[in-house]
Amino acid sequence: MSNYDYAIAQTIEDAVSLLNEPGKRSIPLAGGTDVFVALRVNDLWFDRLVDVGRIPEMRQIREEGGKVSLGGAVQFKQAVENPTLRERVSFLSAACESIGGPAIRNAGTFGGNIANAAACADSLPALVCLEAEAHLCSAKGERVVPVEELVTAPHKTQIEHGELITHITFTLPPKKARSCFIKIGRRKAQSISRLSIAVIGTLDEDGIIDYVRICPGAAVATPVRFRNVEQTLIGKRPGKELFAAAGDQLVAEMIESTGRRWSTPYKEVALKTIAERALANIFLQDESSC
Ligand SMILES: Cc1cc2nc3c(=O)[nH]c(=O)nc-3n(C[C@H](O)[C@H](O)[C@H](O)COP(=O)(O)OP(=O)(O)OC[C@H]3O[C@@H](n4cnc5c(N)ncnc54)[C@H](O)[C@@H]3O)c2cc1C
Repeated sequence: MSNYDYAIAQTIEDAVSLLNEPGKRSIPLAGGTDVFVALRVNDLWFDRLVDVGRIPEMRQIREEGGKVSLGGAVQFKQAVENPTLRERVSFLSAACESIGGPAIRNAGTFGGNIANAAACADSLPALVCLEAEAHLCSAKGERVVPVEELVTAPHKTQIEHGELITHITFTLPPKKARSCFIKIGRRKAQSISRLSIAVIGTLDEDGIIDYVRICPGAAVATPVRFRNVEQTLIGKRPGKELFAAAGDQLVAEMIESTGRRWSTPYKEVALKTIAERALANIFLQDESSC
């Protein structure tokens, strides 16, 4: 039986002070859906859990002046039910809706998903497309780091001991933007992503692609935008041939990053397919594909 302390933080200041108390190895606890699983297989790596899940500011989703702020302890269920997110960044709501089952979505949080930094973390591809920034607070002060840079390798981040993700911010995309999240798992429910993709984009008045962001999940070591593929698409008229070329380029860049692995024969077909489907959904309004 593991032996550790547990403290409940009521405010962000309280949490930061507990996390930075000298002589204690304290870590944040939000929903516990990763921490308690890891505790079953790893030696104890902390001696106190600081529960940040009851801090009111960290539980809020706010929108002001076109900027969204998601508290670090916002649960996926809250994101799924939020009307602004559903309407303006539906791929983020869809990603949250795909996570685990109801019990996991009721407990799991954005802060935990980012800090745990699994290659298959489902909220990250959409957050990366939105150029979301994580706001970190510690005894040393505050800093803001793009989510795309915060995750440095599978299960590794730039988050330092004593730092807390208080909130995550992003600017809402243009109202006309359409977005799509597709996830492939081993089964339809309670399934971890084997591969996923988040795409958002717009067409100009002449029907030409003028804005697109693409981030696959579980394809390369960390969730990053495939900017070369975005450049291939920008300025072009949407069509199946263009999307097939973009899919090929996406796959070539994935393999360049990972090398050929046991999973490559599967992933090269699957990634091209979900990329083409997401692009068709967004730019050809093919509702059946997302
Ligand atoms: C059955 C099951 C199914 C799952 N399915 C999915 C899935 O489909 N997709 C998916 O992406 N994930 C899935 N997960 C993983 C998990 O639910 C998510 O990663 C979740 O977002 C973790 O959030 P949490 O609040 O539970 O984190 P916790 O377990 O509380 O914490 C996880 C890590 O993050 C740190 N942390 C937590 N909050 C903060 C913060 N605010 N600032 C800094 N560090 C923090 C903790 O110290 C810990 O290191 C699943 C897990 C289970 C058990």
